[in-house]
Amino acid sequence: MKKLLLITFVISLTASIQAIESQYHITPESIMKHIEVLAHDSLEGRQIGEPGELKAAEYIRAQFKAAGLSAIGTDNYFQYYDFLKEIKITPENNSFNINGTSLVLHEDYIPLKVSFNNLQYMPTAYDDLGTQIQRTSLNIIDVNFGIKISDDSGVYNDYANKDVKGKIVSIKRFAPDKKDYPHVDFSKHELLIDKINTAIAHKVSSIIFYTPEGHDDTLVDQRVIKILSKEIPIFFFKKSGMEKINQVSDTYDMTFYIELDYVRDTSQNVIGIVEGETDTTVIIGAHYDHLGWGDTYASSYKGEPAIHNGADDNASGVAALIELAHYYAQAKEKPHYSMLFIAFSGEEAGLLGASNFAKNMTIDSSKVRMMLNMDMIGRLKEQDKGLAIMGVGTTNEFTNFFDSLNYQDVKLTLSNAGYAASDHTAFTTEEIPALHIFTGAHKDYHKPSDDIEMIDADGIVKVTRFMNTLISYFDTLEKPLTFTKPKSSHDGKRRKKYSVTLGVIPDHVTEVQGFRIDGVMADKPAEKAGMLKGDIIKKLGEVVINDIYDYMNALSKFKKGDTVTAIVKRGDKEIELSVTF
Ligand SMILES: [Zn+2]
Repeated sequence: MKKLLLITFVISLTASIQAIESQYHITPESIMKHIEVLAHDSLEGRQIGEPGELKAAEYIRAQFKAAGLSAIGTDNYFQYYDFLKEIKITPENNSFNINGTSLVLHEDYIPLKVSFNNLQYMPTAYDDLGTQIQRTSLNIIDVNFGIKISDDSGVYNDYANKDVKGKIVSIKRFAPDKKDYPHVDFSKHELLIDKINTAIAHKVSSIIFYTPEGHDDTLVDQRVIKILSKEIPIFFFKKSGMEKINQVSDTYDMTFYIELDYVRDTSQNVIGIVEGETDTTVIIGAHYDHLGWGDTYASSYKGEPAIHNGADDNASGVAALIELAHYYAQAKEKPHYSMLFIAFSGEEAGLLGASNFAKNMTIDSSKVRMMLNMDMIGRLKEQDKGLAIMGVGTTNEFTNFFDSLNYQDVKLTLSNAGYAASDHTAFTTEEIPALHIFTGAHKDYHKPSDDIEMIDADGIVKVTRFMNTLISYFDTLEKPLTFTKPKSSHDGKRRKKYSVTLGVIPDHVTEVQGFRIDGVMADKPAEKAGMLKGDIIKKLGEVVINDIYDYMNALSKFKKGDTVTAIVKRGDKEIELSVTF
């Protein structure tokens, strides 16, 4: 009896979805037309801030206009925002002199991007009371690998019996030979960022890194640019630079000047709207940027620079976005809710476009009903799991919809997770119910081989049909959607380095000293410790947190069950919270 009732309910729900009809027909050909433009070599991989990305934006704008969408950016269809593109280090603004000998920038040495910036340095040091004192010469103290470990993996200390406070230290890259310390796990302590934090904890005045014998002597730096300066100068020296130092005796006269040039650039989201009967809005989005020539840490490709066309990631989502825009603009009956179509830029650089929009909406943000993100929807036929729908846990109404949906056109795999590395996360953190529609990962992900030949255009048409089923159902449902905090983050692989998680969403946009929390997940250590959205983590355990990299570095040190003190800035106040992992 119970079963019979359930079946009746399923049929009645499926029957009750009155799909929105349109004069416009979405076909595999109309989909491919957009992908051919967006994934063409002439757009050079649509990297943020590059001409190819702007060309893609202009194409999408023309499509939105042709479809008859109203412009709803800040500047017509565009919404501009600025971002940190590069940190430049030029010989005009940087110098290093030691006992009258000049080191050559990029040949003998570089200041690291994380170094203190805009600094004219004369030798200084600190006395025991911490007062700065001027000196004309200083010792450089070598602290071997600069590693200090005292945890379960073993005990090892390069700082033992060394008075480094206020001194310049030199530190080798890498870690001691495993043979000599079979029981010590150096893997969590050998990155530059680990060593920098350890040295700063010992109150050194400056750090010089160098490469030990027997290794490639190329200058290295962190590849990332979204880092914030440390309070001390930090250099990397090649062998030639070290030789120039070692030619002189134990004491040095040195002066240096560091200027890191923070190059900012502008990028843009493309936004248009189909006005419905009400100003309550459904946001439909897809990112149009990709990885350019692969010269970014997000690329998984190794080899000569090559164009990453990103046909699946995410020309596929944008093609569907444009086609849906045409579809609803020509709907036979006006939709109940307004539909905002947005093509995001800067997703690959850290959800920049989506975060900028979510924080500066060009519509009334209190009237946003839900957000639907299409990111990588071009490979349906090769996926056993069919179409993945993530974020189902962000409102009970999604759960109700999928529970009762009897959908035959494509196989659906549902996940409650609401936070993942794609644009919908920027909306979930604003407490807007959001779904990520996704045909799944594949071996060509973030490689030049993610190209047009592999695209399943019939599959994308099926995805647009599913989108219409979903949108049509919610268009007739008058009930407001109440956001529920999803319990877990993306189900994907967590990097092995981390055995714990704090359960927070990083703020990728606000540039602050520290790690700003943009959202707190339910039932995770951060929530239990009392952390709130907007808090800035300044210290976790012993590690001072300057940016997300320090944060990840700190996290790698903890294990389940550890309790540590976190210092958090909330408003003007710094508070201490106890976090148990
Ligand atoms: Zn993507």
